[in-house]
Order: sequence, then C-alpha cells, then structure tokens
Amino acid sequence: MFEIPPFHQLLEQVRFAGDADVHRGLHAANPGTDGLAVLLSPAADKHLEAMAKRSADITALRFGRTTQIYAPLYVSSFCTNRCSYCGFSADNKIERRILSLEEAEAEAIILHQRGFNHILLVSGEAPAKLGVDYLEQLALRLRDRFASISIEVQPLSTYEYGRLFKAGVTSVAVYQETYNRDIYNQVHISGRKCDYDFRLDTPARAAESGMREVGLGALLGLADWRAEGLALGLHLAWLRKNFWRTALTVSFPRLRPAAGEFQPLYNVTERDLTHLIFALRIFDPDVGIILSTREEARYRNGMIGLGPTRYSAGSCTAPGGYSNPDTTGEQFSIGDLRTIDEVCAAIKQKGFDPVRKDWDAGFQMQ
Ligand code: SF4
Repeated sequence: MFEIPPFHQLLEQVRFAGDADVHRGLHAANPGTDGLAVLLSPAADKHLEAMAKRSADITALRFGRTTQIYAPLYVSSFCTNRCSYCGFSADNKIERRILSLEEAEAEAIILHQRGFNHILLVSGEAPAKLGVDYLEQLALRLRDRFASISIEVQPLSTYEYGRLFKAGVTSVAVYQETYNRDIYNQVHISGRKCDYDFRLDTPARAAESGMREVGLGALLGLADWRAEGLALGLHLAWLRKNFWRTALTVSFPRLRPAAGEFQPLYNVTERDLTHLIFALRIFDPDVGIILSTREEARYRNGMIGLGPTRYSAGSCTAPGGYSNPDTTGEQFSIGDLRTIDEVCAAIKQKGFDPVRKDWDAGFQMQ
C-alpha cells in the first residue's frame, strides 16, 4: 500500500533549495522525487521560463503535436458525502437528478455526434442510487459506440473495477483532493469519503483490476500547492513502480465557485498552477496532464503545447445538460465557456492537432 509521509515533512522538503539545485533538477534526465521537490521550491519561481521550455520540449517528444479533448458526461448529482467545497455536497439544497440508462445513452449520443470517440462518465457518490450494476449496464450500452470509456465515480473494490473493465471501462480517475490528512479530515465532514486511506489506495485497486489508465489529482486551494505537488509525484512514482503497465494522468483542478459558498483555504494563482504543471512534466515525462474547463480560455490557450496533453471542452457539469442546456444543479461553474469547435480551432491555431479519441480497444491485451 502506498504510504504518504506526513504533510509537514513534504512542506519542509519543498521549502529549501538554491539556484544550483534548480539548475541540476532542470537538466537531469531523471530528477526523481528529490529533484521534483527542488523544482517545486520557491527557488524555482524565477526559473519559470526555463522550466516552460524544458516542459514543452519533453511534451513534444513524448506526445507529439496532439492535444486530446474530451467532455464529461454527468450521470448523477446525488451524493451521500458532505464535502465542504463541492456543489453536490449532501447538505446543499440543489435540484438533484440521476439519468436513466436511456437518458445517459442519449447524452452520450450527443457527445458522439459532436465527434467524441472517448467518454468520461461522472457522478456524485451515492452507491445505493448509482452502483456498479448501473455503470456496468451503461458501459455495455456504450462500448460499441465509443473506443474507450472512463469513469470518475465513487471509489470501488478491485473486484468491482474488474467487472467494469470487462464491461468496457478502461480508465478510472479518482482524486485524493488533498494529501494533507488534517485538512482532508476538516473538509470531508461526513460520508464514506471521510476514509482518507481507502481513497489513497483506490488508484492501486483500479490498476490491479487491469484498468489501462488511472488518473490522480489534487484540488488546488485546500492545502499548500508545492507540498501537494510533491505528494502527487510520490504517488505517481509508487504507482509506476508497482503497476508499470498502467498509464497515468494527473489533474490539478483549482477550486471554483460552487453551491455552499466555500472559500479556498489557500490562494493558488495561475502562475502557481503553471509552475506545478511544468514541475510535474519534467519529473514524469510520460504522465498525461489534464487542464479542464475550470480554467479560463485565455489561460488554456496560453498553455497549449507547454505541458498539458488533454483538455476538456464544451463541458456541462449537470446531469442531462447536453440535451437540455438550461439544466441547473452544476457541480461547479465553468471558466471556459467556448464550444468544442472553438477550443479545437484554438488548438489548431497553435499548430496542434485536437484529437477526440483516447485509444482503441483493439490495442487491449486480454
Ligand atoms: S466532491 Fe464528490 S463526494 Fe464530495 S460532495 Fe462532491 S460529488 Fe460528493
């Protein structure tokens, strides 16, 4: 099982470095987690331009001139957890909805007609309303239409992930939100999500089940972003060592306004986010980096080719929102409101190819 050092130790590690350390970290073929700590340190702040160049070079080498795009399909806004930062939190009085299998399929068809060949199914955590049976049946309905299916739902057991893998799900995203155990306990007020260790172990269970790809992440604004970045790097390194066949992605959503009016505990600026992305790219050349529509169009345009490899586009975060755009009850508000075609045009303008497919199941080794 992955064990994370105490957060105060990570804070210490990312605090102290000098210019010479940053130069070494920047040019090392394999900086390792010590190098990552250096690249995340305040000493690296003034080397952001050099980090951008190194990050862009590595990204071009490993991913070519392509940027994947995707849109999430929210299937349910019911949640039994109380997370103080989330619009779906059980105590928020919002209109809740779970899509029937037919409604979910209809939403998926809209995304397919918009050119997506990959789909991400998202829900709140309410296993009694939306459990493995539902996800399995939906995956079976969608598997012939989509080349790959990802899920971002409640943490499951290895056996349950195995069932979904057989039904056509190939990728699981589960974000720790924060690796700071004290803050984790503070913002997760009640429900199954209060179990920090069970969540921390979820990426390993998903990888163990055979999933082709596992996504990690931290919700920026809950704890110190430098230490959070180091924790993510340690988690990535552990997974690479133990599940070398599994592709990995990271995402660093910054807290956005949501029902409940939660204020971020830490201010994370665009520059901080940029710094984090460059450091993670230099640390792990193969990790997919996701930049979602939480960020504004101006910022997302500026980051094309510099490190991120996957952009969400034309997203709606309320169930049924593609068939009925007036639907209320979003998980959080969107920062980039452009259509998919507008996002693709911006990617092309930068000389990159927007790809609406993740991979093909024909590559799957059974
Ligand atoms: S973050 Fe996830 S688990 Fe927490 S309230 Fe929101 S949907 Fe539910």
